[in-house]
Amino acid sequence: MKFSELFHTIQGEGQLIGVPSVFFRTSYCNLRCVWCDTPYTSWEPEDRDITVAESVAAIMRYRCKHVVITGGEPFIQPKELTALCHELDKRGHHITIETNATLFAEVAAHLISMSPKLRNSNPPEDHRFFKRHERERICPDVIRQFLDAYPCQVKFVVDTPEDLTEIQTLQTEIGIPAETILLMPQGTTSAVLQQKQEWLVNLCKENGYRYSPRVHVDIWGDKRGV
Ligand code: SF4
Repeated sequence: MKFSELFHTIQGEGQLIGVPSVFFRTSYCNLRCVWCDTPYTSWEPEDRDITVAESVAAIMRYRCKHVVITGGEPFIQPKELTALCHELDKRGHHITIETNATLFAEVAAHLISMSPKLRNSNPPEDHRFFKRHERERICPDVIRQFLDAYPCQVKFVVDTPEDLTEIQTLQTEIGIPAETILLMPQGTTSAVLQQKQEWLVNLCKENGYRYSPRVHVDIWGDKRGV
């Protein structure tokens, strides 16, 4: 399995914010978000190999119930991901998978944390990845499949108030329940996140969405492995 890093920290975003968790970060992604906060898994992917058995042994060393499998995009390695989830589930772990929701596979997971990418994630139009990113970033059928099969949260990274229209359109077209939607500010420093908090909270109040802070950014900025 291609992976990037493994570390023990707290979940910094979403419904399980603050819960001590082991993060297992896979490498490689099918998208190229312009503001990607883990470019070492997408734009310049690290290429380390680990077997499923080695991954399970390394994760178990932390004696931590919650495991978050993140990326990159974990579902681009469906065979390995399925095997890893199966082994962790057997051992009683709570498994969250963080995904850009463009690829589906049946896995043993307790929370699918989708983060469909809005237009604000597009690389510049003259970039060689633009067309592919724009074409692949939203897959309504995949989002629907996850919603039907798993407990889910749908996190949108919001850059400006104008992003709301795109979120509302997706919500209506795909049928995403409002209570599963979380809005998070885009940014890799506490100062940038703070600038966006107030209007973002108002958008949440007006639309029945949940606001999610990004606690790891507030504490550690864009430092890796925390
Ligand atoms: S989907 Fe996630 S990992 Fe992939 S490029 Fe976008 S932010 Fe980075």
